[in-house]
Amino acid sequence: LRKILSDYVSTDDAWKEGKSLPYSALCDTFSSIEEISSRLEIQEKLTELFRLVLLRDGGGDEENGGKKLDTKKKSDMYSLIYLSSNTVAPSYECVELGVGDSILIKAIGEASGTAPNMVKKKYEAEGDLGTVAMTSKGKQKTLLGFGRMAGPKRLEAQEVLKVFREIATTSGSQSQKWKVDKIKGLLVRAKGSEPKYIIRGLQGKLRIGLAQSTVLVALAHAVMLTRPSDVVPLTEERLKEIRALDDEEGAYPDFARKLCGKNLALDVKLETAVQIIKKAYSEVPSFDILLDALLSSPLQELHKACNLTPGVPVVPMLAKPTKSVGEVLKRLDGQRFTCEYKYDGERAQVHQTPDGTTKVFSRNLLNTSEKFPEVPLYVKEACKDESVTSFVLDTEVVAATCCPIAFNRETKQFVPFQILSTRKRTEESAESAKVQVIVQAFDLMYLNGKSLLDNTLAERRKLLRENFIPIEGKFQFATSIDHTENGDTEMIEEFLDQAVKGQCEGLMVKTLDENAQYKPSLRSLNWLKLKKDYLEGLGDSVDLVPIGAYHGKGKRTGVFGAYLLAVYDDDTEEFQSVCKIGTGFSDDDLKDLSAALKPHIISEKSSQYIVSDTLECDVWFDAVQVWEVKAADLSKSSTHKGALGKTGESGRGIGLRFPRFERVRNDKKPEEATTSDQILEMYYAQDSIVPGGDGACDDD
Ligand code: ATP
Repeated sequence: LRKILSDYVSTDDAWKEGKSLPYSALCDTFSSIEEISSRLEIQEKLTELFRLVLLRDGGGDEENGGKKLDTKKKSDMYSLIYLSSNTVAPSYECVELGVGDSILIKAIGEASGTAPNMVKKKYEAEGDLGTVAMTSKGKQKTLLGFGRMAGPKRLEAQEVLKVFREIATTSGSQSQKWKVDKIKGLLVRAKGSEPKYIIRGLQGKLRIGLAQSTVLVALAHAVMLTRPSDVVPLTEERLKEIRALDDEEGAYPDFARKLCGKNLALDVKLETAVQIIKKAYSEVPSFDILLDALLSSPLQELHKACNLTPGVPVVPMLAKPTKSVGEVLKRLDGQRFTCEYKYDGERAQVHQTPDGTTKVFSRNLLNTSEKFPEVPLYVKEACKDESVTSFVLDTEVVAATCCPIAFNRETKQFVPFQILSTRKRTEESAESAKVQVIVQAFDLMYLNGKSLLDNTLAERRKLLRENFIPIEGKFQFATSIDHTENGDTEMIEEFLDQAVKGQCEGLMVKTLDENAQYKPSLRSLNWLKLKKDYLEGLGDSVDLVPIGAYHGKGKRTGVFGAYLLAVYDDDTEEFQSVCKIGTGFSDDDLKDLSAALKPHIISEKSSQYIVSDTLECDVWFDAVQVWEVKAADLSKSSTHKGALGKTGESGRGIGLRFPRFERVRNDKKPEEATTSDQILEMYYAQDSIVPGGDGACDDD
């Protein structure tokens, strides 16, 4: 591929003359990626494309190629990164692509001279509007003899991204025709596979199995390979640290494997580059900021230019599930830790910039300031005095009650999450909102111009309590007890009981001094969750993706009666079936879920879905939702495919027994669902299994 691309680009006069990268270079890469499923191969193809742009103007001088970037080269890199991750802006800016099919059908019709109802028919037959656009375009050329005329100006990657952005940020009924014209403008100039990816990109689904994490890895590899002078010094100590992380947190499984293999030096450098870039991106999840920093400073100094900034949400730290107080004590043996109430609400990261602007962000980094207009007011009111100028707080926003008058002054109880989820996306004010909320603060990551991520939790919590003052019913600190001695099971059990009685989900147990930094995006062993359900078997609920459904019968006629759910394998970027589910749904749930998923029906099972033939669904969906599900236990299964290839038994996966629907997780994307590694970990953590043992699953 590298050769094809290099030849292609070196024979492309416009590119040689310093013009921007042709969009076809990206589409050619997409086409070759679409034909393969190996994540490593996909990564390599994308790396080569990125390198091509980074090396430009370098004239073969790899040392300088990546550093001296002119503006065009920079813009090319922005376009490549955004278009290959199929986004147009950082997620916290809430600018989503996802143009409706009717607009796209109209644009394809107008661009190719085909009646919209014909385009629609073809779409129904093909199941992919991108392919319809590509074939209609081909037809147009022959019919109108365009091939003989001088072709229209070729599309550049930058232009396509610009139009995508304009389309994503323009709304209103008047904008429909304008959007059709814009899309048509792209389509009439598109060649080869370009129409396919323009349409799929605008639908918000590239369908080539390219996850954002692969884009980041490819970027890291491209930078490292293009700038060999950016050698990251690896001391013995750093190596030890990396190995320890591998043992403790499973953060470097590939890396650990490679440690035993050949070519250690390059692997270490590449892996280190990946970790540096992922760390920077988890602190500042914006491609704009990341690329600016990456293109102007050496890798090992990236952290100086790209670190936690108030106003830009940080990817939150996550917890590992545990099944008993005994397990908590064993895992945290000898370390000082704190147990906090685990509130059942919505995560809210509250940022204040030095100019006094306050913003609220959700777990998946969306701006929820309009949903919780009172949160900034409560937090400002809780600031000790004017000396607190800028900060980033980690909190859980919890519903106080449905009726403000009955607010828990007497009972001091919160109401369950279901109540909070009835809040509208935009609320005028606290007074007009039906549901009142309380901010339960549990961490402080930034204060007055200084990042606290590397401070211990004990230090961060001290600063939190010194700089903010609780206001009952508005802003409170997470209720906690600290633990210094081991073996005090009763005290923790009693506290857990108290938390559950107070409508909390359980406890969060966190190290205070050792290994107690805030690690953005990491599911860390230094944060353990102990849910009230732990006695029920699994220790935690799982978050699964509905990939298919079966038509309902009897009382469920007209809606889907059962669904097929999957975990996400982040190595292969596949969704692997783990259970068929038909319980836990209310009648309203069944209606709502059918209505929400019907627009996402696809004509055939996606190649990303790993499902046994015996579970053939009546309909298949695009992966768009995440559902929280509880189950009695996990079992090895010949029908289900969870963690396939990792269970130690060929062809057998992990499945859920007695699954029960809990709720839709609107705060998670399908790629944030429970992973196959997590399900495997949960399988082995069960008390009742013998590793390698057998157990029939519901569908076996
Ligand atoms: P995960 O994020 O682990 O995939 P999840 O989103 O279902 O799963 P849990 O793991 O169940 O969340 O718990 C972590 C969440 O608990 C946090 O994201 C936060 O919203 C909430 N939470 C409530 N109280 C606390 C607390 N004291 N400390 C940290 N998080 C808390």
